[in-house]
Amino acid sequence: ATKPYDDQNIFAKILRGEIPNSTVYEDDHVLAFEDINPQAPYHVLVIPKGAYVSWDDFSANGSDAEIAAFIRAVGHIAREAGLTEPGYRLLANIGMDAHQEVPHLHVHIFAGRPLGPMLV
Ligand code: 5GP
Repeated sequence: ATKPYDDQNIFAKILRGEIPNSTVYEDDHVLAFEDINPQAPYHVLVIPKGAYVSWDDFSANGSDAEIAAFIRAVGHIAREAGLTEPGYRLLANIGMDAHQEVPHLHVHIFAGRPLGPMLV
């Protein structure tokens, strides 16, 4: 079972406007903003606006509309940023072994330099 959603997590606070962020995209279901500690020249986090702990939670409990909007938004953001041709990497950490730090689903988009082989 997925652990309960903690509405004091940092991305919940960003969604409520309690903490500022550098938004790159927003729609009814999705917010995307720059990572505060970028690991590549382009490092954006894409999150659903709904209260989902992780990909595990979202894929089981998200509505079809939320899931479609989320996947479409990730692709849209990357295309609009011109990343299709140079290429980019998507990453989602889920749970303890993956070292997920923030318990609100986020997909990382990395780009802007050769990213090297996937490490794990
Ligand atoms: P995780 O390890 O959970 O996949 O990644 C969490 C990410 O959130 C990290 O890359 C970290 O830099 C980013 N992060 C943590 N706190 C904040 C914040 O307050 N604002 C922004 N924009 N990013 C954050």
